Amino acid sequence: MVQAHGISKTYGAQQLFAPMDLQIRSGERVAVQGPSGTGKSTLGNVLLGLVAPDTGRVERSARLRPHAFQKLYQDPVGSFAPHISLAQSLRDAARLHRCDWKAVQTRLAQLRVPEDLLARKPDQVSGGELQRIALARVLVAQPALLFADEPTSRLDPITQQEAIQVLLSAVQDTGAALMLVTHDPHLAAAVGTRTLKLAQGNTRACAG
Ligand code: ADP
Ligand code: MG
Repeated sequence: MVQAHGISKTYGAQQLFAPMDLQIRSGERVAVQGPSGTGKSTLGNVLLGLVAPDTGRVERSARLRPHAFQKLYQDPVGSFAPHISLAQSLRDAARLHRCDWKAVQTRLAQLRVPEDLLARKPDQVSGGELQRIALARVLVAQPALLFADEPTSRLDPITQQEAIQVLLSAVQDTGAALMLVTHDPHLAAAVGTRTLKLAQGNTRACAG
């Protein structure tokens, strides 16, 4: 899906992920770990093409449409238009990606989002509810590669488990690749087919 050759990004005096090679195949689930500030989010942005690397290059599979590369944000508030109802945001996404509204409803039910919540604006639901709606919306795009940036860190443990289950079964159904940034080593071990560890000034890839 994605091949990165010698990528790095420099902000100020800090060079993030000292030139790194990385390859992500379809169906892979990569857990991304590392202390705050080591470039986990920036790595996702570079792989998705949202930020240009300062060295190296990223090749994304030419047979995939641009929408196949999707990101699930840690803080969902900024990813929803503030003055539009959640229903409208979801309907727009469904129309854009030619996704049946029934499928959206099924996803919302799996994520235990009552449909009447959708009449509200993004700032009128809880952080946990909004993150589950954000997950439903990103899955509407049927991503081939989903970069999920600490997507469940604001959810309580039960809701977190449910959201991860929905995420995993969605990527399994579609053969999508998942990169999951998480601080939770148990979650990383449970979800990842491999773990990528970022550290200050160097990068280490671990198998298993
Ligand atoms: P992580 O997700 O691992 O916490 P980030 O990728 O968000 O790390 O950030 C890595 C480093 O790069 C941090 O020191 C951060 O302050 C810096 N950084 C990230 N984005 C920018 C930016 N747009 N401008 C300047 N510095 C940035
Ligand atoms: Mg981050």
